[in-house]
Amino acid sequence: MFNAQSAAVNRNRWSNLFLFNYLFCAIIDRDASTDEAEQLANRVLEWLVDERIVCATLSDCVLSSTLGYAPGPNFRKALEIPYAVRRGQDGEKEPDFTDLETNLSPATNGLEITTQRTLFSPMGGGFELICDQCNSRLEIDDKWGAAVDEWYSESGSSILTCPICQHAQPVTEWQYDPPAALGALGFTFWNWGYFYSSFIEEIGRLLNHRVIVVSGEI
Ligand SMILES: [Zn+2]
Repeated sequence: MFNAQSAAVNRNRWSNLFLFNYLFCAIIDRDASTDEAEQLANRVLEWLVDERIVCATLSDCVLSSTLGYAPGPNFRKALEIPYAVRRGQDGEKEPDFTDLETNLSPATNGLEITTQRTLFSPMGGGFELICDQCNSRLEIDDKWGAAVDEWYSESGSSILTCPICQHAQPVTEWQYDPPAALGALGFTFWNWGYFYSSFIEEIGRLLNHRVIVVSGEI
């Protein structure tokens, strides 16, 4: 399951990982409404449990105060690069699945499902907005904040207009760098690592929606 070529490509990414305690990788549904989030969450959870990628019962295994779903026996089917690494005999870093395999409580190794409007962002730093039409990069400002507030409270159009080209679109449709997303449904995996693209595509297929991955370390 582990791909040596990908490991080489990602080695630089690993070099930074010891600075942080927790990595999260969240798969966000870009199109789900608040009303349908719960039903869609259950559809994906059912598949993850059937595939034995996560366990079926909730436990204390995520960073927040809520409960999550611990890794199942087949969690490696989803995971291309595990978060944890160890030093091999030649001093090279090697993948280490131990943290996920042992599943000790209270480990932070579970899936947290969010079914309410949330800004999923790569903590520990800001992000820029990118306009779809003119590719301008913009700092977040009060207008962005107002549009986000409208989206959270469902009190307005939540339209944000590009000050450079005047293109107007909902704040949820803007691109962010590093990736961030506003969504009503998110699947946050704590300390798993980086997923196979085929796994992310399968989640999108089950949802029949656009998905985006937001990851970060804290
Ligand atoms: Zn623009």
